Amino acid sequence: MNQDTICALATANGIGAIGIIRVSGERSFEIVNKIFEGKNLEKVDSHTVHYGFIKEENEVIDEVMVSIFQAPKTFTTENSVEISFHGSPYIAKKILEVLIKNGARMAKAGEFTMRAFMNGRIDLSQAESIADLIASDNEASRKVALNQLKGGISKEISFLRGDLLNFTSLIELELDFAEEDVEFADRTALNQLLNRIEVKLISLIDSFQYGNAIKNGTAVAIIGKPNAGKSTLLNALLKEERAIVSSIAGTTRDTIEEILHIKGNAFRLIDTAGLRETEDEIEAIGVKKAKEKVDTADILVYLADASTTDFSDDIAMIKSLLRDDLKLIICATKIDEVLPTKYDLVESVFRKEIASEFDFIKISAVENQNIQDLKNELSSFVEHMKSEEGNVVITNQRHFEALNKSLDSVRKVEEAVSSQITTELLAYELRNALEYLGEISGEFSNDEVLGNIFSKFCIGK
Ligand code: GDP
Repeated sequence: MNQDTICALATANGIGAIGIIRVSGERSFEIVNKIFEGKNLEKVDSHTVHYGFIKEENEVIDEVMVSIFQAPKTFTTENSVEISFHGSPYIAKKILEVLIKNGARMAKAGEFTMRAFMNGRIDLSQAESIADLIASDNEASRKVALNQLKGGISKEISFLRGDLLNFTSLIELELDFAEEDVEFADRTALNQLLNRIEVKLISLIDSFQYGNAIKNGTAVAIIGKPNAGKSTLLNALLKEERAIVSSIAGTTRDTIEEILHIKGNAFRLIDTAGLRETEDEIEAIGVKKAKEKVDTADILVYLADASTTDFSDDIAMIKSLLRDDLKLIICATKIDEVLPTKYDLVESVFRKEIASEFDFIKISAVENQNIQDLKNELSSFVEHMKSEEGNVVITNQRHFEALNKSLDSVRKVEEAVSSQITTELLAYELRNALEYLGEISGEFSNDEVLGNIFSKFCIGK
């Protein structure tokens, strides 16, 4: 166990009303006390706040408030101190310097959280959810991260592991009594359990799509011929959102994404600003570029200008862009310019030519007609995913992979049971599944299997 006392700036690096430096480790109180003028911090009660000054030798660096947290009821479970100072980056640097001079060391990235995990206060998935919570930028991602922090995923996983562990224990026991040809583990019950676990794993795995949508936002590509009304629609959609427009530098090429929030869900409108600068889009970017954009999208919003008459290019474009996992919304635009009979006709043209399922919305971006319908349709895409699983949502790629590996091994166990394979192999597959599930919460150890056997059976009796 790492015994160093660590320190770091806990607030954002920059000027602020207040900055907070966090200190954690056995010597926290002693070290801070050496540089603090005020009460004797080694003698005060836990969870109390004290006024005073941080000094370097005899020179006062800043007037501060110091919070004292005694082990074990602290974030890291170690003795911890929080120093609130006047939020200057220079003062932060000076205070950290004196802390280090007096025996603390700079914390590594994530080291406070790592200590909380190593000391058993939180499991791995909870540690990860803290990072997610800090990164959350919308209502849905905040909620999911908070749910995970409260132990949402860990609970589900521990529940699955607990059941598997029981059977593994019984199977291991059979191995110990191999010569006596006994069967402690009821194979039918094992099968039923495996089925239940499989269903659970699949639902957790499926929730990843939603998890991904709320963590990274749902990607929407707005495509259409030049003058179809893309930028006008974009402006109508982003009307109240202009303040949070953001640019994201991509790795292969710069893509510009504008973020739209609908009912707490984030949507990333891909590359739309880039599009607006291009006069003649179809010629300039061609089908290839449009495909590139749609490739990374979850939803394609295709705009067809209802005031025109020939839709063969639009239909060809849509057909070349469609994928199984792409939701298609076709919008007839500029309906303020045409009669209802005309845009009904437009709908029938698309319905006739495009075999895949799609939503058809008639909009006028200039008159703000039915823009809300489009927003509703976008948000129902995400809401629909949400309603397909329970409260627990997988947002983490590592969990997703471990769950998939678990599912593979659970299926192998099922095969093993039905093909009456040797008990050794069955035990091997069960241990694999346990290990992958344990990877998520960071709780896997072989000793656990043994411990479980001993806690349930008195072998020596
Ligand atoms: P883009 O090339 O697809 O981005 O198309 P724009 O958004 O620049 O629009 C092209 C032209 O169509 C502009 O003159 C817009 O004012 C007009 N326009 C866009 N949407 C509508 C609409 O809903 N109704 C009407 N009447 N005109 C529109």
